[in-house]
Amino acid sequence: MNSLQKKILTDGTVLPGNILKVDSFLNHQIDIGLLKDMGKDFYELFKSKNITKILTVEASGIAIACYTAEHFKVPVVFAKKGRHKNVGSDVFTAEVFSFTKGTSYEIAVSKLYLKPDDRILIIDDFLANGQAVLGLQKIINEAGAVLCGAGIAITKAFQPGEKFLLDAGIDVKSLAAIESMENGNIVFRD
Ligand code: 5GP
Repeated sequence: MNSLQKKILTDGTVLPGNILKVDSFLNHQIDIGLLKDMGKDFYELFKSKNITKILTVEASGIAIACYTAEHFKVPVVFAKKGRHKNVGSDVFTAEVFSFTKGTSYEIAVSKLYLKPDDRILIIDDFLANGQAVLGLQKIINEAGAVLCGAGIAITKAFQPGEKFLLDAGIDVKSLAAIESMENGNIVFRD
């Protein structure tokens, strides 16, 4: 069992609606020692892919992406949420339906920071229905860059996103793939 899986078992809480709360170490307060381990684990999973940039969505993905980027020695770009962000008008955009909020929002990345010669690794905190990754994939495609894979901290494998993205040919790898969390009992896939 890796550090993230152990931490989920000791400090994670299952909320109604298939939500795993990880605010005490990942999504609000951040456990830096854990993030260091996660960054190294993601590097081991994707180090053969000649990554030139890491792409995530604000806010929860940023810290994980930064600890991962330290190993790849590449920049992190994070998509900004909402329409009136200070990224200028020359942007790639995508619409994302939020699993936790139940509404859609727009994400935007300045055209200055994604180029056709970029080889991109997506990093995100959760994979549920796959909407965030699909939005980022659309932006990568518009930039003419190459999507090399998606490194997900926590995949809820009982929800459709993982299969959908794998079927679409995306190399999805997770540090903690949860097979079920019925009655608060979290079971990881091997
Ligand atoms: P998806 O786009 O795959 O449907 O959902 C992924 C996004 O929804 C993540 O970036 C994360 O912000 C949020 N999310 C999905 N499931 C959970 C969950 O169980 N717990 C938390 N804290 N966030 C989640």
